[in-house]
Amino acid sequence: VKIFFLSSEVAPFSKSGGLGDVSSSLPRALAQLGHQVTVVSPLYKTVPRASLTVKFRTQDFAFLSQQENSNLEFVFAQNDTLFARSHMYGASDDARRFFSFTQASLELAQHLQPDVIHCNDWQTAFAPYLVKTRIPTLHKTRLIFTIHNLAYQGNFSKFETENLGLAWADFTYDKFEFHNQLSFMKAGIQFADAVTTVSPSYAREILTPENGMGFHDVLSHRKNILHGILNGVDVNEWNPSTDMLLPAQFSSRDLSGKNGCRNALLKRFSLNDSLSSVFGIVGRMVEQKGVDLIQSVVPHFLEHGCKAVVLGTGEKQFENQWLKLQAQFPTQLSVTIGFDNALAHLIEAGSDFFLMPSRFEPCGLNQMYSMLYGAVPIVHEVGGLKDTVIDAVNENATGFTFSTPSADSFRKALVRAVDSFSQAVNYRRIQKNGMTRDFSWSKSAEKYVSLYKK
Ligand code: ADP
Repeated sequence: VKIFFLSSEVAPFSKSGGLGDVSSSLPRALAQLGHQVTVVSPLYKTVPRASLTVKFRTQDFAFLSQQENSNLEFVFAQNDTLFARSHMYGASDDARRFFSFTQASLELAQHLQPDVIHCNDWQTAFAPYLVKTRIPTLHKTRLIFTIHNLAYQGNFSKFETENLGLAWADFTYDKFEFHNQLSFMKAGIQFADAVTTVSPSYAREILTPENGMGFHDVLSHRKNILHGILNGVDVNEWNPSTDMLLPAQFSSRDLSGKNGCRNALLKRFSLNDSLSSVFGIVGRMVEQKGVDLIQSVVPHFLEHGCKAVVLGTGEKQFENQWLKLQAQFPTQLSVTIGFDNALAHLIEAGSDFFLMPSRFEPCGLNQMYSMLYGAVPIVHEVGGLKDTVIDAVNENATGFTFSTPSADSFRKALVRAVDSFSQAVNYRRIQKNGMTRDFSWSKSAEKYVSLYKK
């Protein structure tokens, strides 16, 4: 299958979260299965330019390419006025930036004539509409739209309709109008041939009024083309036995390197190295991730000797609260505000537990990384967390789960976890189960291929 993969971020060139990881690892897995993949993303400031060659030009963009292997090519759309900025998202002209990027990319697609165009999240969600209403030469190409997070919808003032050169006649309920706004998400859902999201549980949850973020009706109408396909892990990047970002490597058969990583982590942040549990926390500091739950529950455990290492950026209130807690518990808690991939790896490797009490979680990658790295996850049973973590009451347990996103349920799960840590045998069993699970892309990439073929 010839696949044209459109995404606003692609790791390691650009990444704000899971979308960047998936836009790199899924195309790699598809290419490995023998399919032809062209991945197209904007050329941000972070992308090294030296090895890129010009492939194609439109009026406003130059498309620069880097051939990875015979099946896989990364293409970067260059328009420095729109994209060479210090932030990927959050500008007042985001609608124009990502619409223009999508529009120009489709000119490249006409040149390449792919079998499928796979677009991702609101930023590229106008591709199906544009192809179907304006580009007859792509009438044979099928359009897949993947929702990585329904919370980010790309809703803008209805007056963008004109600014973007769209027809007012299509500003209707069945097209891209959403509560009197112009919605990129809506356009993607309404015009794609198939809509996917990143875990089976999330695919069910978003059909309900509680979790559909206003889209449950729209999605319910498209239920017959909606699929939940679990994300995989790039096991070349996230494998503790080969990970050169770590001070020591390890595997489920030999955990001595894990102990080395744990010591290195505690030493780096001058945390006391008693035998009590080390909690790792990595992620965007936003309400979705349950940061407030962690901040209300963790101090109690710090008082009882546990330690926590936090890495993330996000809303100021959460960042400030972490810094305040760090001042209260200087030898128990370390907080790093920032984005640091190497430190994210070290935290997964050096922690005994990984805390992820997300209120909702389309898939989540960190809990899978943590299982592979022997940091037993403690998660809310929702979305992809529910699909990947098996609670300690089961024989094949890989973590600790709780069913309501309240401080009390989270605290109880943490108590169970810390208790198991003191009975080493039980903890080791859960840890090893997680480390030996297969979270690679192999099964999920095949599912995308069947969908493309269908
Ligand atoms: P989301 O996509 O909602 O942010 P995921 O768990 O799916 O959450 O993916 C987050 C990805 O971003 C993981 O690869 C994680 O390690 C990485 N990440 C998030 N915050 C940071 C940070 N501050 N520093 C380094 N990596 C981070």
